[in-house]
Amino acid sequence: MKYQKKIDNETLQCEICPRFCKLKVNQEGFCFARKNVNNEIVSTRYGKTTGLAIDPIEKKPLYHFYPNSKVLSFGTLGCNMGCLFCQNWHLTKKDSNILIEEKSYSPEIIAAIAKKYQCKSIAFTYNDPVVFYEYAIDTAICAHKKNIKTVLVSAGFINPKPRKELFSYIDAANIDLKGFSNEFYQKNCLASLKPVLDTLIYIKENTNIHLEITTLLIEGENDSDKMLKKQSRWLIDNLGDDTILHFSAYHPSYKFNKDKTKVSTLFKARQIALDEGLNYVYCGNIIDKNTSTTYCKNCKSPIIERNGYQALKINLDGENRCVFCKTTCKGEF
Ligand code: SF4
Repeated sequence: MKYQKKIDNETLQCEICPRFCKLKVNQEGFCFARKNVNNEIVSTRYGKTTGLAIDPIEKKPLYHFYPNSKVLSFGTLGCNMGCLFCQNWHLTKKDSNILIEEKSYSPEIIAAIAKKYQCKSIAFTYNDPVVFYEYAIDTAICAHKKNIKTVLVSAGFINPKPRKELFSYIDAANIDLKGFSNEFYQKNCLASLKPVLDTLIYIKENTNIHLEITTLLIEGENDSDKMLKKQSRWLIDNLGDDTILHFSAYHPSYKFNKDKTKVSTLFKARQIALDEGLNYVYCGNIIDKNTSTTYCKNCKSPIIERNGYQALKINLDGENRCVFCKTTCKGEF
């Protein structure tokens, strides 16, 4: 494996993500997707998915990337994040008591299935693709040969070298920004904020990846006005006011037993981000026409009207401009 370092005769360090797991022979990493086998760290989930699903692209969520197109989604077992509120914990946690059957799908077969079902893109999702990056890259190569786009849904907790390699195969990404404080990351995700912010800046400055960001809002944890203002300000200052941001509703899961996020909390967060100056802010995991519709940043007309995961009406011309005032909307349509 490329991203490993010898610590001593018995120990290798994995350098894919900022956990830097030190693994003796037969020891598994935090993510339980990589293991030291005969003094080589290997991916133990390569070619093994937890299942394939065809979703609307809006479900990733990506709202400004080929609306209404189909995306073939897959992931594996394991994750390098330690979120205590994980919404997919049956796939990502070793202590899950739900038995998930892994199925063998080669990268070539996945691309062929996407083609057969006329999917515009393939998404690496459900668990964090950082832990199965070789499988994701090989699938991306097969996808691109068939003119299929690639989508990464990730927490962005990855070291610079593997990030550069993996992201060179990606066309669009939704990165989770789990909360805007290091304390939140440490306490609730067993991780840290800075590598995630570095990933966002890397995407902006070094790639042509279409980027959208999601924050899962948990009341009393990451939804204070102060934190939301700070997050919005950082996004505007570092990524620009056209940054696309989704606030999605948390449901009690794994080790968190807090109340489900109220719709009013999502609306409040969206309003704070809009007031700070972001142009495209959405509420997700709820059905609400107003907060899932894209409004022109200039004339405020609805330019992509949505309900649920469906774009009902698109008021953009062939050059991604609002049909009413000709202002360009950010994205690929
Ligand atoms: S990818 Fe997995 S094994 Fe490697 S450092 Fe991260 S958590 Fe540890």
